[in-house]
Amino acid sequence: MYRALSAFSTAKWRWNSAAGYWQPSFNSFPLYCDEMSKSLTPRHPRGLARRLTVAYFTMEIAATDRIPTFAGGLGVLAADIMRSSADLGVDAACVSVCWQFGYLKQAIRPDGTQSYEQVAWDPSKELTKLPQTISVQIERRTVKVGAWMMEYTSGNSATKGHAVPLYFLDTNLPENTPEDRAITQHLYGGDAAMRMKQEVVLGCGGVRMLRALGYDDVGTFHMNEGHCAFLTLELLRERGFNDALVRGSCAFTTHTPIKAGHDVFGYELAWRIAGNLLPWHIKKLAGEDALSMTQLAMTLSRYTCGVSAVHGEVARKMLGNSAIDSITNGVHHVEWVSPDMTKLFNTYIAGWQDDPSLITKHCRDIPDDALWHAHEQGKLRLLHVVREQTGLTLNPDRLTIASARRVVAYKRPELLYTDLVRLKEVCCGRVQIIHAGNAHPGDVFAQEVIHRMIDHSKELRDCMDIAYLPNYNPELAKLLVAGADVWLNTPARLHEASGTSGMKACLNGTINLSTLDGWWVEGYHRDPESGWRIGPLALPLGDEDTRRIDAEDLYTQLQYAVIPEYEYPGHIRWLRRMKRSIGLMGHFNANRCVQEYVSKAWNR
Ligand SMILES: *Cc1c(COP(=O)(O)O)cnc(C)c1O
Repeated sequence: MYRALSAFSTAKWRWNSAAGYWQPSFNSFPLYCDEMSKSLTPRHPRGLARRLTVAYFTMEIAATDRIPTFAGGLGVLAADIMRSSADLGVDAACVSVCWQFGYLKQAIRPDGTQSYEQVAWDPSKELTKLPQTISVQIERRTVKVGAWMMEYTSGNSATKGHAVPLYFLDTNLPENTPEDRAITQHLYGGDAAMRMKQEVVLGCGGVRMLRALGYDDVGTFHMNEGHCAFLTLELLRERGFNDALVRGSCAFTTHTPIKAGHDVFGYELAWRIAGNLLPWHIKKLAGEDALSMTQLAMTLSRYTCGVSAVHGEVARKMLGNSAIDSITNGVHHVEWVSPDMTKLFNTYIAGWQDDPSLITKHCRDIPDDALWHAHEQGKLRLLHVVREQTGLTLNPDRLTIASARRVVAYKRPELLYTDLVRLKEVCCGRVQIIHAGNAHPGDVFAQEVIHRMIDHSKELRDCMDIAYLPNYNPELAKLLVAGADVWLNTPARLHEASGTSGMKACLNGTINLSTLDGWWVEGYHRDPESGWRIGPLALPLGDEDTRRIDAEDLYTQLQYAVIPEYEYPGHIRWLRRMKRSIGLMGHFNANRCVQEYVSKAWNR
């Protein structure tokens, strides 16, 4: 801060041709003078300066079932990483946004069409309002930003009570214009200008809020996806526009293996919305032609990673950066284990909550009948919900395949229905299927997919039961991963960054049947007896050929491996495989993931 001020006093002015005005070559805009001098006055008594190993920034977090500030997997992962950080005693804090409308509630009509409604919630009932407010400049207006807080508290015996605060930024304050109050209204809603304003609030506002809260000493600012990359620009300003100083304290996780999925803004828009945040060398940091949030985050991070080994590979090629590492995601074992499995683990795997690696060591000690009983309980619970929601009565003795995820093309939700004749031949009277998955309300393609899948279920009614459960969310995910026998996942290769729902399935003894992509490449190769793969690792064919080959292999696996094993007397072979699936949990848990983050990314 001091450095920035003295830098400003000696700054030379230069013409900024992109913006069309003069600016100091240190880019400390006069606008900031006021705020800077204010920020030099102590906000909290000396000695109360707060330290953090990591400030974890994320656009979404599925903090609890009652806080719908998330859309999907990214938010679920952020929450698990924060839960494990609490358990491991990491001095972490999370910075996110208090979305008035995050997650959308899906309803499915009998004809297969869907409706999506906003889930209203009241932050004052779930979170604590903090007195601090800060401001950011957006379109040259001052926008006030407030914050709400909750904490994850560790239940781990070694760190019992260790708390990780989650801060939710909010522009819905009476001091702001209605337009600015709406910035934190819709997660991923609105146009590019709105998205950019939201990202200014998260990145720039988040750093300022941390300072206002007294966090003067933050080891690493972690960007969970490129949405948060504006935090680097605020840090640049704080540190006298010294790129190396900023790079030294930032780390970045990229989650998107598809180029089109990365946030990119035109510079004209960027100058208009956030002109005074952009340093003179922004094009060097974020791209010549357009402002790429991914490139900005990567340029100003000392450590960048993907979220599985294959995704690391894809990211290195796609982003042209050979230094990109990978840390494979994990799930928080205590959060995602079913109540019945919890009882089993408590009995047979002492200490599993504190140390999930013990699950791998001792899961074979669980007696077969106890494991089958716990699994049946989970299945009955799921089938009960299926009946409540769809009126369909499924058979608890029948092989139950679940396939639930956000409906997007690359996950190939209809792969199972590629050849209905073959599907009938293999599965009639032997298999039942449960689907769930939301489409974005604006995504006509995805809504049609869901519609078609419901049509398939009607067409196949005489031969097998297929249910489509509405409103896929973490609560429903918990029921599905514990109640199904098989967890089916069919992404097109190299498109699934990691995928964590399959890990939740493992934890509960549900067995994965998946194309080799994301985490499953590692899971399957760690123990090929823990589940099944669909098709080979690599298939150098066009989309349509690949799809047909994968579909054929899916039917073959079901016909010759999955169904016979399930129907084998006494479920003996199935139980052996269930235990091997559970055995993967020693690795694919969020504690291991956070330990890797601590040693590779947050080790400053
Ligand atoms: C775990 C989870 C996800 C992420 O899982 P994928 O394998 O990426 O589908 C998404 N949504 C919900 C509700 C989840 O619980």
